This record gives sequence, C-alpha cells and structure tokens, in this order.
Amino acid sequence: MRKNVYLLLACFLLSAVSFAQTKPDYSKVTLVIHGGAGTITRQNMTPEKEKAYREKLNEALQVGYAVLKKGGTSLDAVEATVKVMEDSPLFNAGKGAVFTSEGKNEMDAAIMDGKTLKAGSIASVTTIKNPITAARAVMEKSEHVMMIGAGAEKFAQMQQIEIVDPSYFYTETRYQQLQKIKDKEKTQLDHDGGTGSNENIFTEGNKFGTVGAVALDAYGNLAAATTTGGMTNKRYGRVGDAPIIGAGTYADNASCAVSATGHGEYFIRAVVAHDIAALMKYKNYSVKKAAEEVVMKKLVEFGGEGGVIALDRNGNFSMPFNSAGMYRGAIKNGKAEVYIYKD
Ligand code: ASP
Repeated sequence: MRKNVYLLLACFLLSAVSFAQTKPDYSKVTLVIHGGAGTITRQNMTPEKEKAYREKLNEALQVGYAVLKKGGTSLDAVEATVKVMEDSPLFNAGKGAVFTSEGKNEMDAAIMDGKTLKAGSIASVTTIKNPITAARAVMEKSEHVMMIGAGAEKFAQMQQIEIVDPSYFYTETRYQQLQKIKDKEKTQLDHDGGTGSNENIFTEGNKFGTVGAVALDAYGNLAAATTTGGMTNKRYGRVGDAPIIGAGTYADNASCAVSATGHGEYFIRAVVAHDIAALMKYKNYSVKKAAEEVVMKKLVEFGGEGGVIALDRNGNFSMPFNSAGMYRGAIKNGKAEVYIYKD
C-alpha cells in the first residue's frame, strides 16, 4: 500500500517537472518582419503609398502574432506572416515579384527551424503562388534542403500546394520598372560593381522588396523565413541570397533567427545570416552587436547594400540596415511597431 503511494507521488512529481519544462511562456513571444530595404525616403514616398505599406506591414504582424498567441509554433507564425506579404503586390515576393531580364517572375524562398536546424528552400520557381509554403514542404516532406525550378514546382504540385499560371505574378508597376531599367542597362554595365553602380540598376525607391519574418514562440523556439522575386532585370537562372541557408536566412535556438534583404550577391559572399549567428555563438555578442557588426561594418566594406532582422531566444531583436530605408516592424506584448525610414 505504502509502496503504491510512493509510486503515485513519484509519478506526480515527474509529470509536474515535465509540465514546468514544457509550459508555454507567452511573455517573450516576439515577431519581427521586413518588407525590403533600399532608397526608401520621404521624398520618394506619397502619403497613400506610405499608408498602404504601413497597413500591410501591420496586418502581417497581427496575423503572425495571432498564431503565436494561440500557441502556434514560430514556424507556423513566420509562414503565415510571410504569406500575407507574398499575396500583396506591394512587396517583391509572390504577387509583387519583380521581372527578370526576360520579362519573367522567378521566385526564391527559404524557411528554417531553430529548434531542429532543419531547413527548406526553393529557387527559380514561376508557378507557385506562395513560395514559402513550398519551401516548408521541402523541409518537412522531403529529405532535401533545396529544390529548384521545374523539379520544385512538380514537388509542390504533388504536395497539393497552390499552383497558378505565371501571369498571376504580372503587375504593371513591376513591368514598368523593368522597362526603365532595361534602357539603363548599358550604363550599368559600364560601371564597375559596388553600391554606386546599383543606382543604375534600380529606378524606384523600393529597391529590394524581399519579405521576411523571424519569430520566437511560447516554447522558446526560433524560426526564420524569407521570400523574394530577386532583383529586377536579373538574368535567367540567377539565384539570390534568400534561399541560401546561412546567407539570407538562418535560425538556431543557440543564437538567433535572421532574415535578410539587399543585394544578394554580396549577402551570399558575406554569409550574412550565419555570420551574425556565429558572432553570438562563438564570441558571445548580443544580437544587436552581432547584426550591426555584419550589416554596418562587414557588408559596408564589401559594398553590399541592405539590412536584416535578427531575433534571439530571449526576445531581443535588431533591425539594422545600411540603405536609406527598410520596411520593418515588430510585435511583442501585443504592441506593434512599424518603421520605414532611417529616422
Ligand atoms: N536579397 C534579394 C536578392 O538578392 C533581393 C531583395 O532583398 O529584395 O535576391
């Protein structure tokens, strides 16, 4: 009899301990987003355009935060958040994707789970309505990390992910951006790399419209997601940093979750996202110090324009950029903030 009581007591204590370990902690739940960086200044913004961006960024934050508050995972939150921005023509992702030099829309996306270090990415796809959902399927339903082009599209179709006609991605604004840039290409080629010459590639204030999200859920797990149409006038088959794990996207519970936006070639060479995580892991930098070191020093030296959002396991985050502006925002304790300009 007494033995049974001890046994019962032991069982009770064990389950109490494991409950305490897995008990969700909503106080640190955080979601941070970006909608691209570039020469985004008050001068080249209209009040209507600014309002539209602010509203959409806020909607994306609210959708993702609702997922986290209901006990959803950081992966669910970043996917839901990014989908809102993919479905909006305002951003260079999904519906608002930019055009390649051939007049096509070729998209890249990646997602990473900070708890398991599993990742999935797709590149150069032209028919997947929500590339981020396909990237997640690669992570969860295949034994691969990265799939590209026709193969990735076939896989998405097999996973019952929504496929659309490439004409779905046509937007007049983006098409006109390509026409303007095409005329200027000669000037661009005459220049030699670096941020200065980028001025000739891009005409609009909204240079890099990639979207991304990083989240911390109530179970203490981080996740990151990035999706993009790449760069206007890019050559066919060109892949940027967004789907390269460690360059434009990275998440590790031991350090941070990062999503980047900017001139992809530089972000790949500077291994931006992983470098931020590495500074935290090996040098004990704070998320702010690590993100600033890479974006404001290393990237600037490389000549790479853009920015990142980075979030650690305690809900500390940083949103540095070395361009004129970056669409960005965060939500924590129910309080959402959205920013566009430097100050
Ligand atoms: N990083 C993206 C790329 O190079 C562009 C962007 O951020 O808008 O493909």
